Amino acid sequence: MDVLVLKAPAKLNLYLRVLNKRPDGYHNIETIFEKIGLCDTISLRRRRQGIKVFCRHKDVPGGKANLGFKAAQELLKHAGCSQGVEIEIKKKIPVAAGLGGGSSDAASVLLGVKRLLRLQIPQKKLLKIAAKIGADVPFFLFSGSRAIGRGKGELLKAVNIKRKKWYVLVVPRGLAVSTKQMYQRIRRITLTKRPYGVKIMLRALERNDLTAFNRYSYNSFEGMLQKKYNHVLEIKKALTTLGVDAALMSGSGPCVFGIAASRKEAMYVSEQLSAKKRHWRVIVARTY
Ligand code: ATP
Repeated sequence: MDVLVLKAPAKLNLYLRVLNKRPDGYHNIETIFEKIGLCDTISLRRRRQGIKVFCRHKDVPGGKANLGFKAAQELLKHAGCSQGVEIEIKKKIPVAAGLGGGSSDAASVLLGVKRLLRLQIPQKKLLKIAAKIGADVPFFLFSGSRAIGRGKGELLKAVNIKRKKWYVLVVPRGLAVSTKQMYQRIRRITLTKRPYGVKIMLRALERNDLTAFNRYSYNSFEGMLQKKYNHVLEIKKALTTLGVDAALMSGSGPCVFGIAASRKEAMYVSEQLSAKKRHWRVIVARTY
C-alpha cells in the first residue's frame, strides 16, 4: 500500500464550559463533543524521507505550520522511523470557525501514517502524541461519535447515545476566530446564562427534547463573541424564526448551529438562509 485516503470529520461542541485556568497556562473545560459528517479529505502517500504538506486553502498553511505536518513529524519521531510521507489536504471544514478542522486533520494523519507505514505504536502513546498537538486532537482518535471531554478536553468518556441528529451550521463569511485569543480573553467573560451540568444536557439529548436542549446547552465563549461581533443572537434569531428549536455556538466560534427536527427541516432552513443571507455560509450536516 503506497497511498491512503481518509476522511477527517468536523466536530460540534454541544456544551462547553470553561472551568478555570491551570498552572500550565491551559484551561480546564467540560464539554460534549460530537463528530459530524462534514469532512476534509486527507491523502497520504509514502516518501522515502521527509514530510511534505499540500493544501490549496488560502487560510491554511502548507509545510511545517500545518497541524498535519506536526502530527506526522511527532509520530515518525516517536516510532523512530526514517521514512517520509506526502500529505494532501482538501478542506471542506470552514477554517478557524470552532469546528476543529485542523485538529481532525492532525488526528487523521496520525491514524493514516501509522497504517500506511505499519508503525507499531500503542493506542495510549498515540493519544499522548495527539494531546501534545492540540487539546481537541484526542477526541478525533476516539472511535465513538460523541464524548464528554474534561481536563483540556483530552480526558474523554464515551457518550452512549446512538440517535443521529441533523444540524444547520452557520458561519459568517470573513470572520475567523483564534481559539488561543479567546482563551486569553476568557477572564473578561460575560455570562449570558447560568450553566447547568453536562448530565442534564445528555438527558435532553437522549430524550430528543430540543426545548430542554436549548435551555441546558451552554458555551462560555458565546457572550464574549456576541459582544464583539453581534452575530450569535442574529443567527440564533434567524434559525428560530424558521422553526429551529435549539441553537448554540460551537467551540470558540464563530460557527452557530441549529438542531433540526429532520433532514427535511434542515434542508428547508438551509435553503431559506442561503437565499437571504449571502454573508453567511450555511451547511447541513448529520451526526457522523
Ligand atoms: P478548534 O475548534 O479546534 O479550536 P478551529 O476550527 O477554530 O479549531 P481550525 O480550523 O482548526 O480552527 O484552524 C485554526 C488555525 O490553525 C487556522 O488559523 C489555520 O491557519 C491553522 N491550521 C494549521 N493546520 C491546519 C489545517 N490542517 N486545517 C485548518 N487549519 C489549520
